Amino acid sequence: MAKYRIALIEGDGIGHEVIPAARRVLDAAGFDAEYVDAQAGYEYFLDHGTSTPQATYDAVENTHATLFGAATSPTDKPDGFKGAIRHLRQKYGLYANVRPTKTRPVPGAYENVDLVLVRENTQGLYVEQERRYGDTAIADTVITKDASLAIGKFAANLAMQRRRKLSVVHKANVLPVTQGLFLNTIMDEVGAMDGLNVSTMIVDNAAMQLVRNPQQFDVLVMTNMFGDILSDLAAGLVGGLGIAASGNIGDKFGIFESVHGSAPDIAGQGVANPTATVLAAVLMLQHLGETEIAGRIDVAVNKILAEGPRTRDLGGTASTEEFTKALIAYL
Ligand code: ATP
Repeated sequence: MAKYRIALIEGDGIGHEVIPAARRVLDAAGFDAEYVDAQAGYEYFLDHGTSTPQATYDAVENTHATLFGAATSPTDKPDGFKGAIRHLRQKYGLYANVRPTKTRPVPGAYENVDLVLVRENTQGLYVEQERRYGDTAIADTVITKDASLAIGKFAANLAMQRRRKLSVVHKANVLPVTQGLFLNTIMDEVGAMDGLNVSTMIVDNAAMQLVRNPQQFDVLVMTNMFGDILSDLAAGLVGGLGIAASGNIGDKFGIFESVHGSAPDIAGQGVANPTATVLAAVLMLQHLGETEIAGRIDVAVNKILAEGPRTRDLGGTASTEEFTKALIAYL
């Protein structure tokens, strides 16, 4: 029997290309796992009227971790549609979205960036409670003390394992009730933590500081929508969406995924960069305590990113297959 059971959800678009690639890389690195294929996403919704079937819940609940490919978020949402990954984050209380941003050897990347963006993953504007009264539209944002406490502690503990620096990013000057609750809860809990250097930063300044001097940051924590935006910004600093990975982590379950979406413009062409999903698999391995295999894959990814073949998004000409084969050969 394999040591681990892992659920694989390809999802939509290029998810069908990057998940099989990541699985081959895990096999080549010697990860001892049995895989459970599960379905979810917009394509599944169009065929079945729901984005996530019961079998997928079973797969998530009965495995050690889940690797997720990509999900389409249609701008014109059909009635009854709820995005699969957002739904899974809420259903399983995956309150921490962890997005490491590290310089990789790719063209145009900033040097010496090594930060982790921690995004609250279950509330804020993502409670998706919107309504319209004539020409007025209103969206609720929900912030609770419990969720702020949980994410604040998570980020502080992570910072303690790294360079011991935590930046609490907020907009409490304009939204003192909601953002104020988030900020004050975290500062009350970890602001004076022994050995931890905690500072606060208003989100617009954080955006500028990330562009001007990203090397100053270690761990940043923020509410859901700010995290959504700043994590793509951070990904842009070090090579773009093709190499940005994230983990959705709760007390019981973890779902690991790329930051990018389903990339409908290139889906089915065999040119997607699987690096983000391979690095999501590395985060999954670290979460499972398989740090040796995780480290080997990380080194291999850097080697191939530096020497090629590179995929198109990084200025190369390699297909998904050529890149994956090179990675496997090196491993
Ligand atoms: P969705 O609706 O699924 O969010 P999107 O096109 O709005 O799709 P992304 O899928 O994140 O958002 O894609 C943004 C851009 O980045 C697209 O041009 C896409 O081709 C490119 N891109 C995203 N992921 C990759 C990848 N793994 N490899 C190469 N290009 C990528």
